[in-house]
Amino acid sequence: MSIALNLDHAAALRPAASPVKQSLLGLARPELAAALIGHGVAEREARMRANQLWNWLYQRGTTDFAEMANIGKPLRELLTANFVVDRPEIVTEQVSVDGTRKWLFRFRDPNNPRLPPVEVETVYIPDSGRGTLCVSSQVGCTLTCSFCHTGTQRLVRNLTAGEILGQILMARDRLGDFPGGIRPTDGLVPGPRGSGGSEGDSRAITNVVMMGMGEPLYNYDNVKQALLIASDEAGVSLSKRRITLSTSGVVPFIEPTGREIGVMLAISLHAVRDDLRDMLVPINKKYPLRELLDACRNYPGLSNARRITFEYVMLKDINDSDADARELVRLLAGIPAKINLIPFNPWPGNNYDCSASSRIEKFADIVNAAGYASPVRTPRGRDIFAACGQLKSESERLKKTDREALTG
Ligand code: SAH
Ligand code: SF4
Repeated sequence: MSIALNLDHAAALRPAASPVKQSLLGLARPELAAALIGHGVAEREARMRANQLWNWLYQRGTTDFAEMANIGKPLRELLTANFVVDRPEIVTEQVSVDGTRKWLFRFRDPNNPRLPPVEVETVYIPDSGRGTLCVSSQVGCTLTCSFCHTGTQRLVRNLTAGEILGQILMARDRLGDFPGGIRPTDGLVPGPRGSGGSEGDSRAITNVVMMGMGEPLYNYDNVKQALLIASDEAGVSLSKRRITLSTSGVVPFIEPTGREIGVMLAISLHAVRDDLRDMLVPINKKYPLRELLDACRNYPGLSNARRITFEYVMLKDINDSDADARELVRLLAGIPAKINLIPFNPWPGNNYDCSASSRIEKFADIVNAAGYASPVRTPRGRDIFAACGQLKSESERLKKTDREALTG
């Protein structure tokens, strides 16, 4: 059983998006200053105002320029006339019996407001002492991992840095995570009061995982910009140790992820032989296991305190034998690693079954005996279709001719 909330009041609170106004979300500080300079603000003042805006946007979560008390009225009016601090529209918000929340967010293309809006799913998973937000990087996915629901949706487009951040900010709004915010009062499992962020406050969202729709490393620049802003200490201030980026194995972007973003890495491994991984995770044909594991070994910042998580979906009679478990241990030798066993989450039309719990336990025993922590991920939010690999939206890719007609 799950409930769907009435969000009419949230719609009423949203600022009306204007197609001609530039969104400030997702701009780096120098870009924010440049936007002000472009509207006649002097360079020195623009840099100072960019810092103030940063604080309002990311630390306080303000969307209305009129509330920015330390900014003079003429500049507030200039900001209101030319810019927006937008939030995605909430199409639906569902709450699972286990407290997991799933939002369907709708975004308009900031550069082409005439294009149809796109929709993505974002999931919040409360747990004891922590709350994890699972964020999407793309609408659909170019990859076609055979056990993943998102993989059946063609890529519509990449999300912008502002849209990736928008998911985090909107979730913080809904969970009462900004100063003065109000926690949800729907009587279901409340957000935890875990300690998150670098200032050790009590937040509902303590961790962010790039494990929603899409392959984050195929949208590297926008994901990088969004995560650098989310981890900026003067803003949302999420510790990089509490942000995890999951990739199916886009090898050339693994080293830059460590060096330029510096977040924790998760690898969707799922198979220990190339012939099987070619079928399950087809990007393996391009970047086979040996190259992938070499990139992991060289991940910048890797240490026992900063291990790589290897995700392994448990598929009955496909990849779940004792021999697979032993080979997994052999493959990962020398890499500081955690192994996350994920019971397969079914979706309509899939061809797989989840391994029996006794099989998963046996597999975990072999991996544990080799000294690896190998938690079995408890499926969360299955009743609202919010578990790993179940996310998908109705957004469709336009034909080239339709797109040209709308943008031309
Ligand atoms: N594209 C990235 C991010 C998605 S993360 C990646 O593939 O890593 C989502 C995680 O859930 C990945 O490890 C993915 O392989 C896994 N997954 C996909 N479909 C699943 C399913 N049906 N059941 C369980 N896990 C699944
Ligand atoms: Fe894309 Fe990740 Fe799903 Fe593979 S598992 S289809 S890379 S979202």
